[in-house]
Amino acid sequence: MKITNVVPIQADAAWAAYSFVKVETDAGITGYGECSDWRAPNAIAGGILDMRTVIEGQDPMAVAKLTADMTRLNQQAPGGTMGRAIAGIECALWDIKGKAYGVPVHELFGGPFRDRVRLYWSHCSSYRARYPELLGTPPLRIYQDITDLGKEVAERGFTALKTNITIPGDPADVYATQDGVLQPGIVDRITSLIEAFKQGAGDDFDIALDVNYNFKTQGATKVANALEPYGMMWLEMDTWDALALRQVTRSTSTTICSGESINTLVDYRPFLELKAMDVGMVDVPWTGFAQSKLIIDLAESHDIVMAPHNYYSHLSTFMAGHLCASTRSVQIMETDVDAAPWRDEFFTELPQIEDGHLVISDAPGWGTDLNEAAIAKRPWQGSLPAPGVLNLPRR
Ligand SMILES: [Mg+2]
Repeated sequence: MKITNVVPIQADAAWAAYSFVKVETDAGITGYGECSDWRAPNAIAGGILDMRTVIEGQDPMAVAKLTADMTRLNQQAPGGTMGRAIAGIECALWDIKGKAYGVPVHELFGGPFRDRVRLYWSHCSSYRARYPELLGTPPLRIYQDITDLGKEVAERGFTALKTNITIPGDPADVYATQDGVLQPGIVDRITSLIEAFKQGAGDDFDIALDVNYNFKTQGATKVANALEPYGMMWLEMDTWDALALRQVTRSTSTTICSGESINTLVDYRPFLELKAMDVGMVDVPWTGFAQSKLIIDLAESHDIVMAPHNYYSHLSTFMAGHLCASTRSVQIMETDVDAAPWRDEFFTELPQIEDGHLVISDAPGWGTDLNEAAIAKRPWQGSLPAPGVLNLPRR
């Protein structure tokens, strides 16, 4: 079998762009991978085209060798946007290999370890705050609206959610900083948000808060300490400084999660060796499948549990599901329920979600293909608006 074509495919996902890779072969088997990064779809597509000549004409079954070839050619700038392009191609190659053998991808990696994985409803309130008209969801004007949303999430079978610093209002918005400084009043807004969600979702329910890169060590520590009474699933933050992260983790009883943007095994290693976080994130579309499994296996050797980062299209949900089915040390997996209303049209099969769990596909490859005709009707328009920084509104 030989690779005959490598094609970047981009799709309009409303406030985001989905980036996919299609790899075609002379055997008639087509593989798909996802490597979405909302802010860099054009760069990713360019990276895929730059790697095309490296693998065209090669045997797609030699996935590890082809991935190593692409990685070696970019070894002076590991990870990053080109790393995502390579990850997307690698995932398309695993899809081909699974289809060629007639097995799901997790079976190529020793699975299934599990046949379902618990999900959490991610960006819960975050998208509804910003895009209620597009989503057709109620506006989040007051904290009671957050409570109602928490109730809805539990009623729809989920047992966990993750939110960002949503400030109810008219319009509502999500708090972000430019300078990493925790403004007065934000801790109160955070505890009000978590209390409102807890009231709606009930007691036997996990809630996580993701503050991304918004706070430095000082601010993140204050937020973590303020959240201690709430028994959070985790407080999630991002930093490139493993020692700074460890300082936050050591200074609180709140569980600290981090790592979504650490996308190589080498970069991840010091975070694990320092026990810098309680729960690690790993991202398949940014890291690649085989390397994500290596990171989870290495995390297990450090007694750290992992949670796949997944806020993209359904293809990524299938891919992350296979990762959970190929590894032991997984706590829970992310998924976005609120999304562009036309997201389902892009796929031949949809994720099967039962009682807040993803049922792992046992179909060959990932278990879903792209509906390219549907994507062609929703072409990526080529640019995204710049997100603003929210100033704290008066109460
Ligand atoms: Mg995150």
